[in-house]
Amino acid sequence: MTETKNPTKGSNWSYAPSPESSDHFKLKDQYGLFIGGKFVPAASGKRFSTINPATEKVLAHVADAGEKDVDKAVRAARTAYEKVWRKMSGRERGKYLYRIARIIQERSRELAVVESMDGGKPIRESRDLDVPLATAHFFYHAGWADKLPYAFPGKAVRPIGVAGQIIPWNFPLLMVAWKVAPALACGNTVVLKPAETTPLTALLFAEICQEAGLPDGVFNCITGAGSTGAALVKHPGLNKVAFTGSTDVGKAIQKSLAGRTTKLTLELGGKAANIIFEDAAIDQAVEGIINGIFFNQGHVCCAGSRLLVQESVEKEVVAKLKARMAHLIVGDPLDKNTDIGAINSKAQCDRIQDYLKVGQEEGAELFQTNCPIPDKGYFIRPSFFTKVAQSHRIVQEEIFGPVLAIQSFRTLNEALEKANNTPYGLSGGVWTDKGAKIFKVTRGIRAGVIWANTFNKFDPASPFGGYKESGYGREGGRHGLRPYVELS
Ligand code: NDP
Repeated sequence: MTETKNPTKGSNWSYAPSPESSDHFKLKDQYGLFIGGKFVPAASGKRFSTINPATEKVLAHVADAGEKDVDKAVRAARTAYEKVWRKMSGRERGKYLYRIARIIQERSRELAVVESMDGGKPIRESRDLDVPLATAHFFYHAGWADKLPYAFPGKAVRPIGVAGQIIPWNFPLLMVAWKVAPALACGNTVVLKPAETTPLTALLFAEICQEAGLPDGVFNCITGAGSTGAALVKHPGLNKVAFTGSTDVGKAIQKSLAGRTTKLTLELGGKAANIIFEDAAIDQAVEGIINGIFFNQGHVCCAGSRLLVQESVEKEVVAKLKARMAHLIVGDPLDKNTDIGAINSKAQCDRIQDYLKVGQEEGAELFQTNCPIPDKGYFIRPSFFTKVAQSHRIVQEEIFGPVLAIQSFRTLNEALEKANNTPYGLSGGVWTDKGAKIFKVTRGIRAGVIWANTFNKFDPASPFGGYKESGYGREGGRHGLRPYVELS
């Protein structure tokens, strides 16, 4: 039983545990690579285990792909591209995407539970955001498959070929959808490398492709660590690489592709400013701060990890934020009451703990709630820093955890200067009652997405992507089709 005090009413609020059941499906003990429409073992016979970060228990053993497997997968994708997929009409391709979308819907409960078990995110998020949005991406792109000439009027539209796609662990299934749906809709075939810590929903997605009767080799999934991703990028048979992950690996991929004609899109890190003006609806803004930084344990590239608050309301905002944070429940990702689940891996948990130390050593003041956290698994209490300087590492670097850095400002120009003083440029937020201020801020911040009086809203029709060290290329919307087609 978790007890939280309501500081505004002085009463106790108790929550009985409300765990989502995992009895309705059975994970296999072992998963192979998905190549040419079949699950096959790795050529080396090697496997690695994927664990539940909330319990540290092994969930399944997954094949570890090496260079030979990568080669086999790229060849399978090439054969499917040349013999079947590129020749198929958009209308026919669209039918497969619709079918995939419907099967994701049918298996949504299973997918949500597995996503929470393998990745640590609260079931409320995987159930209400990750899985429905993944479905929406397939429905949306199914609609485009036979309408590509309307997306690029006056141009002849052709697919590119074989796409190698590498995705991270923060939105495993959703990233599958962001990458695979536009590629397939445009007539390309895919070799996907999911993150080492979260391979399971990508493998369930491979089962869904089988169930949908997707022609063999159109979608291939090779599981493994960073070296598998590096081998995929190096493979000369790729026409396109799409990567989401850290800026460091993004740069390594850029180097690896230098001198080749392989096209590249990169969706990398972020350090978004969430800007609260004194004329904002403060209670709503506080909800926006909470959503901006604590959603998905802060493992979000577009997280509002820097709060810029106008000096005149700083005290009020910080006090209300503390009161709101006192209600956040950290714990079992499968419990429907949980607000903040498990940190994705021990490595990421250690990285966040290091930043908590670094911030204090740099002279910032740390605040953490005192909510109970489980003894087993990787958990971090919601945290923020005040008394931070623009030069502090906790302001400049992506922490990718439930840690907010709070700074104040006096004028709009100062807010813009601070917001832009970052190597990143992925997202931002502005909270104000004045429409004119919204326009000034959204034009003044160099970032791909800026939310006004809301945060973390996503739609398949809306392009997403960054500037500067946040990468290039867009995913979603008409813009997101462009990296997957040749125009003439
Ligand atoms: P990575 O960038 O290492 O992981 C992203 C994906 O790239 C994973 O599938 C990974 O495989 C793969 N990969 C790793 N090395 C290579 C390589 N040399 N060539 C090709 N693919 C590779 O992220 P981390 O997991 O190391 O996280 C570190 C930090 O990166 C986080 O703290 C966060 O700041 C940032 N990050 C940002 C993300 C975003 O959405 N922008 C997402 C994830 C992390 P594998 O998992 O098997 O190692």
